Amino acid sequence: MPRLTFLGAAKTVTGSQYLVEAGDEAVMIDCGLFQGEQALRRRNWAEPLFDPTRVAALVLTHTHLDHIGRVPRLVKQGFRGPIYCTPPTLELAEVLLRDAAHLQTEDAEYFNRKRLTKHEPALPLFDEADVEACLPQFEAVPLGQARTVGSAFEFGFRGAGHLLGAASVDLRAREHGRETRVLFSGDVGRYDAVLTKDPEPAVDADYVVAESTYGNRLHAEVPPEEQLTRVLQQTFDRGGVLLVPAFAVGRAQQMIHLMERIVAAGRLPPFHIHLDSPMAVDATRIYARYPGAHRQDGIGVRGLLHDRFVHLHRSREESQRLNDLQGPAVILSSSGMLSGGRILHHCRVRLPDHRNTLLITGYQASGTLGRALLDKRTVVRIHKGEVVVRAHIEQLKGMSGHADWREMLRWLSAVKRARRVFLTHGEEEAADALAMQVGKQLGLSTHVPAWDEVAELP
Ligand SMILES: [Zn+2]
Repeated sequence: MPRLTFLGAAKTVTGSQYLVEAGDEAVMIDCGLFQGEQALRRRNWAEPLFDPTRVAALVLTHTHLDHIGRVPRLVKQGFRGPIYCTPPTLELAEVLLRDAAHLQTEDAEYFNRKRLTKHEPALPLFDEADVEACLPQFEAVPLGQARTVGSAFEFGFRGAGHLLGAASVDLRAREHGRETRVLFSGDVGRYDAVLTKDPEPAVDADYVVAESTYGNRLHAEVPPEEQLTRVLQQTFDRGGVLLVPAFAVGRAQQMIHLMERIVAAGRLPPFHIHLDSPMAVDATRIYARYPGAHRQDGIGVRGLLHDRFVHLHRSREESQRLNDLQGPAVILSSSGMLSGGRILHHCRVRLPDHRNTLLITGYQASGTLGRALLDKRTVVRIHKGEVVVRAHIEQLKGMSGHADWREMLRWLSAVKRARRVFLTHGEEEAADALAMQVGKQLGLSTHVPAWDEVAELP
């Protein structure tokens, strides 16, 4: 019978990776980076439990690094098969993997220079050359098209919302003339989200592997558009600049789109939006190439590139020129958690002025500057200097890319006959909580697998 091995995202939210075997053939779903605590990150270096040369194909659900961040390493370890993903995921993966390689190389150099490492010398998990080496293996498969892999597997992608190109994987494994259908949710987005479409409902597979990031939480109900209109209005009334730290792929485009909707609805007169991040500019161009992939709400994504109020900045000189920018205006820059990047320069310039607002739009891990600002710290350290915080600090709620537990039940509601639902990609409490709801409300058998656990699929 087919076997499913949980190689990552088991009782944790990162490192997504699953191996499905049928007969002597194998396919892999996702190949993500472990992120967060050091004990988790160390797993990125672990030797694989399987022979990478034996894997016939790798199927990627979407382009976040916790789903694709170990692809260059897998290829370095000998995997030579095709890497299937949706067309937008292919384009975005190129941008994200190159950036990740660059950051890792820089970090390793920094650690070596400062002698902050026990490893001599510190090495990046992969570098730019490793990324270039894996890119030719990528192959795009549009949503809804079936693809066969060897003689044992067939799969298709279904839209998962969440992020441009994100998909669930509907996999069929054949062994001894019998077919077993396994649905991998990938990351499931919210319903009625900004810019991203609703996820396509789950199919009634024999087994479902479902994410549980928000398995024990519900999202706020106030529409982001209303919260954002208020923050913009108050900042502009003071003659200030709204500073928005945003992840370059996904959140930056959603924020521009949301502001265009506010202007189109006549709630505010047009204002200038400056997108200051080379990666966000690249990602925005990719977003604009797939107009049909976004929610159709009258605005589309045309403005992301062609609105005369939206300004895209790639070069350092353009970025520095923004220091003289006067309000009312908006600056969007990365990183989203203020852990690095150009946003830090803007914070140094803008935070001491009470007319400005810093708007946090996503989760801020403890220890980050974003967290310190949300905790109302009045003095923060940026680039070894102290910065007094007089600007207003606000938080935009409800922008999460993940379905909450009620939305996950809605997504799963078509699943009737599945022999088991595996809950992954969530902290243990979240996965357990969602498992309980799935059992109680949908009457399905559930299991929360451990790292490297092997499940037989009878
Ligand atoms: Zn994701």
